[in-house]
Amino acid sequence: MTCLFCQIAKKEIKSEVVAEDERMIAFKDINPVAPVHILIVPKKHIPSAAALERSDLPLVAEMIWFAKELAEKLGIAQSGYKLIFNSGKDAGQMVDHLHLHLIGGKRLERWPV
Ligand code: 5GP
Ligand code: ZN
Repeated sequence: MTCLFCQIAKKEIKSEVVAEDERMIAFKDINPVAPVHILIVPKKHIPSAAALERSDLPLVAEMIWFAKELAEKLGIAQSGYKLIFNSGKDAGQMVDHLHLHLIGGKRLERWPV
């Protein structure tokens, strides 16, 4: 099985990494929708939010913590940001490896969508 985000996590495919630890990697989205658009990705392959198991809960909490700390580091903690999980077809999920979008750096008007 080849998975784009598994390959990025293993550095088999290049990306602009902004933060990393043993369990997580965060890199810039290749097609940013705002001045800050980071993807926070667990190194463990989980296909989507819909595929989460209860035992994954600490990992999901870590994803949100990663986003919170990155928002501070990137200077958007005060101005605000969106955290988005797309899951499945109707949400337009394109990459079947769990990821959290951290989006900010401008006023994001479109809501709800
Ligand atoms: P989804 O729609 O699955 O929630 O979001 C997938 C995101 O991955 C999209 O915003 C897309 O721009 C981004 N993406 C797709 N391929 C690549 C890639 O090769 N490198 C990076 N850095 N981002 C990618
Ligand atoms: Zn994967």
